[in-house]
Amino acid sequence: MIVDCHTHWGMGWEDRDQGDPTAWLEVLDRHQVDQAFLLGHYSLTQSERTTADNDRLARLRDQVPDRLVPFGTCWPHHGVRAIDEAIRCLDRLGLTGLKFHPWLQGFSLAEPVLADICALAGERGVPIIFHDGTPCYSLPEQVAGLARRFPQTRFVLGHAGLLWAWRSALAVAGLANLWTCLCGPHQRGMEILSHHAPADRLLWGSDFGFGFADPIDYRLGQFRRSRIPAALQQAILGANPQRLLRPEGALP
Ligand SMILES: [Zn+2]
Repeated sequence: MIVDCHTHWGMGWEDRDQGDPTAWLEVLDRHQVDQAFLLGHYSLTQSERTTADNDRLARLRDQVPDRLVPFGTCWPHHGVRAIDEAIRCLDRLGLTGLKFHPWLQGFSLAEPVLADICALAGERGVPIIFHDGTPCYSLPEQVAGLARRFPQTRFVLGHAGLLWAWRSALAVAGLANLWTCLCGPHQRGMEILSHHAPADRLLWGSDFGFGFADPIDYRLGQFRRSRIPAALQQAILGANPQRLLRPEGALP
């Protein structure tokens, strides 16, 4: 079982394929990836297209519900409208969780509306994925601050600190409600994270979908070649993401 915990329905894919995931899924098939956490792209760069993009993620999921696990978004600057959209994503569209990209969407993690959304996710038992690894709004320590404030909510560091901040991701990985997606650190960084971070909350992801390139080939190959024991690799690729999605098993 392989779950890619970080993919996007990219703007280029939407413009070309108009909501048809066939070609997109062929890339997953090439690498025997069974399931993908699907994040938006239009919705992360253009606030006025967020509602339509969330709807689109739901429709994509409906075409292949066993393969696509959609995460919606909203823009905290919109105030109460953002909270309404988060509620709509979860309650009406039945999306699996929420995703935020504070760097692209341009908001601080101290934004009060975001706090309301974190509390909402905790009540609903759904995870929130954050882009992380870039200053000034997306550092692992800042996401960890939210995890400390909202212990009932599960948070995912979507990039494990990327190339430059994986040590910061490691420093906060011990928080019981924080999960770490190996999607960005170099090979040695992934190895050190795998040896020192809580093994049952590590995930793997590729960031496939932003463009037409195939980062699964690179990132899955890098992960498989790393000095991470085979049993742990298997858990990171399969059992861990499945546990993240089972609310009853997620928190201590
Ligand atoms: Zn991404």
